[in-house]
Amino acid sequence: MANTETQQSLSSLLCTDERDFLIRNNGDQVPVSELTGKTVGLYFSAHWCPPCREFTPKLIQVYNELKQNGESFEIVFLSSDRNQQGFEEYYASMPWLALPFGDKVKKDLSQYFQIRGIPSFIIVGPDGETVTKDGRTIVSVHGAKAYPFTDACVAELQKDIEAAAKKYPKETKHELHEHSLQLTRRKPYMCNGCRDAGYTWSFYCQNCDFDLHPDCALKDKHSDENEKKAAEVICEGDACRRV
Ligand SMILES: [Zn+2]
Ligand SMILES: [Zn+2]
Repeated sequence: MANTETQQSLSSLLCTDERDFLIRNNGDQVPVSELTGKTVGLYFSAHWCPPCREFTPKLIQVYNELKQNGESFEIVFLSSDRNQQGFEEYYASMPWLALPFGDKVKKDLSQYFQIRGIPSFIIVGPDGETVTKDGRTIVSVHGAKAYPFTDACVAELQKDIEAAAKKYPKETKHELHEHSLQLTRRKPYMCNGCRDAGYTWSFYCQNCDFDLHPDCALKDKHSDENEKKAAEVICEGDACRRV
C-alpha cells in the first residue's frame, strides 16, 4: 500500500507480497500487471446492499459499452459480502475482475479511499493516480459518455445539461399529476413517470414530492400516437436515464 496518493500505482493498490493477481468469475487468475496503462474502476459493493444491486446493472451496461468501443478500461470488484457464497453469487453477475474474497487489501483500500458507504466507485487513471472518488454519481448521471471520468470531461457534460435546461419551461402540467410541476434542481430522485433514477433537473411538485424527468414531463402531449412512441423511446431508452 502506498502511503500517499502521489506514490500510488495499481500494483501498490492491489497487490500484496503473496498475491499479484486478480480473479475472474470463472476462477481464472489475471496478473495485476495486465491493468497497467488502463483506466481502472474500483467497485466497492455487496449483494446484501439494495443500492448496490440497483447500481450494478447500470455499471455493467457502461462497462459493456466501453468495452465494445475498445476503450482501455477495467473494473475490479471489492466485495463487502458477508461470506464466500454471497460473494460468488453476486460476482457471477459481473463481467469484470475481482479481488479474491476476504483478501485484506479490501479493508486497506476502504480506509485508504475513506469509503463511507457502498456502492462506491473509485476511478484510477492510466498513470495509477486517483481520477475521482465519486465515480458512482458520475456513472449514474452521465453513463459511458463520461469516460474517462476526468473533471474536464464531467464539466463538459454538465455544461450540455445546463444548456438543455435553459430551453425548458419554468413550469409545466402533466396528466400524471394534478398540480403544476416546477423546473427544480434536485438531488438524485426517482422519476414518478418511468420509475428510473434522475439527477440534476426535475419537473417537481414540492407539496407531493412528485418528480418527472424533463424528457418524461415534456414529451409531446398533443398526439396519442406520438405520446406512445415517445414513452417507449424516452422512458426505456438511455435518454431518460441520462437526464
Ligand atoms: Zn422518467
Ligand atoms: Zn402535487
